[in-house]
This record gives sequence, C-alpha cells and structure tokens, in this order.
Amino acid sequence: MATTSWHERAAALAIDGRALINGQRLAARSGQTFDNRSPIDGRLLGQVARCDEQDVDAAVAAARAAFEDGRWANFAPAKRKRILIKFADLMQKNAAELALLETLDMGKPIKYSQSVDVAGAANCIRWYGEAIDKIYDEIAPAPVHSLALITREPVGVVGAIVPWNYPMLMASWKIAPALAAGNSVVLKPSEKSPLTALRLADLALEAGIPPGVFNVLPGYGNEAGSALALHMDVDCIAFTGSTRVGKQIMQMAGQSNLKRAWTELGGKSANIVCADCPDIDAAVSAAIGSIFFNQGESCNAPSRLFVEESIREQFVEKALAMVPDFTPGDPLDENTVMGAIVDDIQLRTVLGYIEQGKSGGARLLAGGERVRTESGGYFVAPTIFDRVDSSMAIAREEIFGPVLSVLSFTDLNDAIRQANATQYGLHAAVWTSDLSKAIKTSRALRAGTVHVNQYDNDDITVPFGGYKQSGNGRDKSLHAFDKYTELKTTWIQL
Ligand code: NAD
Repeated sequence: MATTSWHERAAALAIDGRALINGQRLAARSGQTFDNRSPIDGRLLGQVARCDEQDVDAAVAAARAAFEDGRWANFAPAKRKRILIKFADLMQKNAAELALLETLDMGKPIKYSQSVDVAGAANCIRWYGEAIDKIYDEIAPAPVHSLALITREPVGVVGAIVPWNYPMLMASWKIAPALAAGNSVVLKPSEKSPLTALRLADLALEAGIPPGVFNVLPGYGNEAGSALALHMDVDCIAFTGSTRVGKQIMQMAGQSNLKRAWTELGGKSANIVCADCPDIDAAVSAAIGSIFFNQGESCNAPSRLFVEESIREQFVEKALAMVPDFTPGDPLDENTVMGAIVDDIQLRTVLGYIEQGKSGGARLLAGGERVRTESGGYFVAPTIFDRVDSSMAIAREEIFGPVLSVLSFTDLNDAIRQANATQYGLHAAVWTSDLSKAIKTSRALRAGTVHVNQYDNDDITVPFGGYKQSGNGRDKSLHAFDKYTELKTTWIQL
C-alpha cells in the first residue's frame, strides 16, 4: 500500500480504548483514562481505559465464572481448535488494521508490523489451535492390579502481562497456548501499546471464544498489573517484561496465593565471531540486521558483538557500510526498515546510554544522536560503538535501542567467559567453520538459545526463553503448555 494510503487510513481509524471484560467493551470503573500517543509524531491517538484493581476484580471474576462453568474448558479440543483457527483467520482478514494499530502505537515500520507481527501472531494462534487435538496424555507403567493415568488439566485463570516491543506477538505467545489448553485469560498489555490487544479480544469474540474467557485490561503496571499479579483468584501469571519488574512479579505471586509465576525477561546477548567464520558477509549482515531490527527493541538483540581481533577491522568496516540501510524513516512508508522508539521515556534512556558510551571512552563509529526531530517523533540513528570495554554500562546493561557495542578477543575461552559474565542468559551466537569449536562453544554459553553461523532463525516450533535473570519460562513450542496446565495423577484400583 502506498504511504499516502497508510496515512489516510491512519487518519480515518476509529480507536476504541475501552477494556474488554466478559464480552463487553467497558470504560474503567473509575472512569479514568490515559492519553495514547503515537511515537511516530507525538500525535494523540485517543483515550484508553485506565483500569485498576476494581476492573481486575471484575475481569478475574468473569474469567473464573467462565472457567468453572466449562463454557470453553469443556469444549472438545477439536472444537477449541476450530474456533482458534477462525480467530487466526480473522486476524489475517483484519491484517491491515492490526498492522496499522501496531505501527501507530509503538512506532515499528508498517512493513514489519504486517510481515512479522500480524503474520507471526496469527500463525501462533493457528499453531496452538492445530496442536491441541493432537496431544495425548500418559498411562504410567504401574503394577498390574492398578491403572495410573497422568493427565494434563488447564490451570484455570491465567493472568498475562506483556511489554510493548512486540505487543501482539508477545500477547499471542501467552494467550494461544493458554486458551488452547482450556484456560480463561485476563491480559494486561503495556500502557505504551494497548491497542492491538484490545482488537484481538474483539476478534476472539467474533470467532466464537465465549464471553469471559478472554478479557483485556489496559492500564498501568503499578495499578492493573500489580492487582493482577497479587490477585488471590488468579492461578498463574505469565509475564514478559524487564528483569526488574519480573522480580516483583515473583514476589507478588509469593506474597498472594503462590500462583505459578512465569517470567520472560531481559537480555544482553553475545554474538561471537571467530576468525574462521565461514561467511563474514553473512555474519556482518546478521549482526547489523539483528541489532537494528525493531529499532533495537528486541529482548534477544545481539547487543554485544565479540569479534576476533585479527578480523575486527575488516568486520567493522563492512558493518559500517551497512548502517545507511537502517536510516530511520516514516514508519508508514513500506520501504522504511527502522522506525520510532516507543516513547520519550525510552528515547531518553537510549540517549543516556549513548552519552555514557561516549564519555566512557568507547569509540563512536556511527549514529549516536536523535534524528527526524522535526517529525515530532522519537527516532535514534543506528549507533555503533567500537573498542568497548566489558566493564562499561553499554556492555553490561540492556539498552533496548539501536546501539551495538563491539568488543574484541584473541582467546575464544576469554570471549565465552565475558559472554557469560552477565546477569542475563537469553540468546547467544558463535560463528566458526570448526564444528567441534561450534558445539563446545554453544555448550559453554549459558543461554536459552544459541545460534551457530546465523542469528535470525526463529520458529513457533522451538522454545523461547532464558537462563539466569532472563527468566524462568519458555514461550512457544509444545513446551509452553507446561506453563498453562497442571499434571494430575489418577490411581485406579482394578
Ligand atoms: P516492563 O517490565 O517495564 O513492563 C512489562 C509489563 O509489565 C507492562 O505491561 C507493564 O505495564 C507491566 N508492569 C510494570 N510494572 C508492573 C508492576 N509493578 N506490576 C505488574 N506489572 C507491571 O518492560 P517493558 O519496558 O514493557 O518491556 C521491555 C522489557 O521486556 C525488556 O527488558 C525486554 O528484554 C523484555 N522482553 C523480554 C522478552 C522475552 O521473551 N524474554 C520478550 C520481549 C521483551
């Protein structure tokens, strides 16, 4: 679609910021709303319900009633499958609207809102729908006079709290397995990006998911979010967000009803390129493409690049040649690959780290500043620091912006040690032509996913999650069902 058409569609878009509770769009009980602004140009998109504890109580009560009367949980898995597939079909039918909402709300390029976010979220809903009538329970090898069944049951009411970087995708990674397994869900999207979650709930209803089964409450973390995490009638809280808040979620679970608490948290992923890398151009392209994708606002972005000293200069030169390809542009232009940072708070955070890099003595090779200021939006030029020391904040802390720190090494064991010297353990990568070296390095890297000679592979079929303070859960794949089901043993005397 032409850029003007996207702008015309955006101007004509009707935005409904009310919560969805028990199948109805409702204002917050307090009557409070908050401004929803677009990071593209700072424009006010509309008012969104500022839900708090009262709304959480209502949504959890609706979810509990729906779960207890079995209006969804007791459907045959094949029926839940049909409805989830219809839900995915409706997402695809409304793909342009969903993509536009995502781009306006959090600033990512419309090209990727369509090809990554809407397509990935619909695929996720479809995949778990397809999976649910193909999973069997177990019979234990019990003594002959008895029968022991090991069955999976839905946990009940699932509270899901998600961030703003991939709003629809992160929501789908939670709601798809939770709903497929028969649970009721109360979803709280980020206050920075509430719009697509609300539309998803409309589409779920239209697809035939009964009222009360899937509720969406927009609101602030310390109001709606904490009320959900502390609620005594929520059986499981599935959280994606920062490590700081993830720790609070675990405490709130312990402080309330010891609900199952699953956390998918931050990262500072290391990308190790050895001199015997099989394809330097591919390694450069992956290193640059992955750190600047989604404006660097990806939990698994390879923000620490370790290059073997003998190829460092060549590598950095090739990397710099790619930087102009990532010049930020109008997110509603389908040629744009780098959009806006989500809001002014995150913009200040990213610029603050860039200042620390400069003052700390790292060598700024590209970017390092705010751009497109005249648009009224929040754009940062793709930034590369070379000669970064691993003690610097830009090498240790998650920046969550388009900032790459280049470090070098002469001894692979030292690179692995530095790669592991972080509180995080989400993703890591190694590039080498030596198979044994690749496998030994991948075994030594403490991360939930290790890439060998690529960085981009991703699929709904594989688990996604971290070691250490990158969290304790796994989204995606059949393993995600572990989070949303209880294991029951039934002993039968024969
Ligand atoms: P955040 O922790 O600030 O917020 C995440 C969500 O938690 C939001 O909905 C927010 O409203 C809510 N929240 C905030 N305070 C809360 C509280 N006291 N109680 C309950 N809920 C609260 O994170 P963010 O800035 O939205 O997202 C960026 C972070 O998410 C990064 O650290 C990124 O690495 C991480 N992330 C991780 C993954 C993963 O799969 N591991 C995926 C995407 C993003």
